[in-house]
Amino acid sequence: MNFSEHHELLRSTVRDFARSEVRPHAKAWDEQERFPSEIIPKLADLGLLGIRIPEEYGGSGMDITSYAICVEELARVDGSLALTVASHNGLGTGHILKFGTEAQKQRYLSKASRGEWLAAWALTEPGSGSDSASLRTTATRHPARPDAWIINGTKMFITQGSVGGFCVVLARTNADVAKQKGITAFVVEHGTPGFSASKHIEKLGCRSSDTAELTFENVEVSDEQRVGEIDHGFLDTMKILDGGRISIAAMALGLGYGALDMAISYAKDRKQFQRPIADFQAVQWMIADCKTELDAASLLTYRAAWLADQGRPFTKEASMAKLFASEAATRACNKALQIHGGYGYTREFAVERHLRDAKLCEIGEGTSEVQRLVIAKQLLAV
Ligand SMILES: Cc1cc2nc3c(=O)[nH]c(=O)nc-3n(C[C@H](O)[C@H](O)[C@H](O)COP(=O)(O)OP(=O)(O)OC[C@H]3O[C@@H](n4cnc5c(N)ncnc54)[C@H](O)[C@@H]3O)c2cc1C
Repeated sequence: MNFSEHHELLRSTVRDFARSEVRPHAKAWDEQERFPSEIIPKLADLGLLGIRIPEEYGGSGMDITSYAICVEELARVDGSLALTVASHNGLGTGHILKFGTEAQKQRYLSKASRGEWLAAWALTEPGSGSDSASLRTTATRHPARPDAWIINGTKMFITQGSVGGFCVVLARTNADVAKQKGITAFVVEHGTPGFSASKHIEKLGCRSSDTAELTFENVEVSDEQRVGEIDHGFLDTMKILDGGRISIAAMALGLGYGALDMAISYAKDRKQFQRPIADFQAVQWMIADCKTELDAASLLTYRAAWLADQGRPFTKEASMAKLFASEAATRACNKALQIHGGYGYTREFAVERHLRDAKLCEIGEGTSEVQRLVIAKQLLAV
């Protein structure tokens, strides 16, 4: 894979940052299950909170390939922080950037780029995950104010749900049409009466990424907080998820490559039967399989990013990248842990954290099964 000089420079900058500012703390953040607010200003200084946001709104104005590179490099050392950066840039701010009004861009994107407000994006509900169009949160016209809406409902598994400054929420605005056609997006600010993040969700991995359940209880928003056309929110959402899936593929790559690096270094160091375990063919084969699968995943991921950057269709390619990269990353982390033997099963080595974090990539922004549905639907469409 040939990257431009600019992309290579970005990669080495983010890699250095991740090694010096993130890696030393990632284990503690994970163990404490604590969102690391202290790293947010540093992410902002590096431009990682406005990766796709044009410079006129205070962002870095970078392309999707750059977005994937940034997420991949962070994930090499910390899946949680990679998830934070992926979702903040791709989902919450991404929705406003693509479908918001000029006033919304002015209000939210510069604060988001500076790290003053992290962005959340709320589609999933307790009763609707893969079948996200069946969501039950409602937005109804205010009975007394024609320019206002009232939102009611509950959202589940929302990244940056409690630490975010604002949230783009998908709500049903029309129950009389096909379920995909009656949904609208709104941006709701934290502190709005009736809007609360009700509980911290304990997870297997990505433990220092904030995941919350959100409650909307008679939350009043003005029509100016509507993002995109009325009843068009779900169709817009599918476009947002296409880009988001590239970032989850990139996150998987970083976790897999990070675990592989650790396994190679451990295999050269660890001796059994008076030889480094790297001398054993069984270990060599695990390393070879990991590298082969991760490189294949990388090609799929950066192909999807390249297509997106060219303005060409990339729905199928993004799903293929996410599907393959996430499953390859889980396999790679599992093999890397195996190479570490009993030590891999302890918390002393980061490889167990990578395995726990990688599993999320098979679930978030559409499970592997949903990716297969998307790919097949595209192939079978006439
Ligand atoms: C850490 C974390 C962060 C997240 N962040 C966000 C966020 O910021 N915003 C947001 O909106 N959501 C977020 N999510 C939600 C995530 O997108 C959903 O969990 C995911 O889409 C799956 O939905 P579900 O959990 O309800 O599972 P379900 O849809 O209930 O699926 C359960 C199982 O059934 C399978 N299945 C379902 N339907 C089919 C089918 N038609 N064919 C074959 N198999 C099927 C699934 O693949 C899965 O294996 C997050 C989730 C996690 C865990």
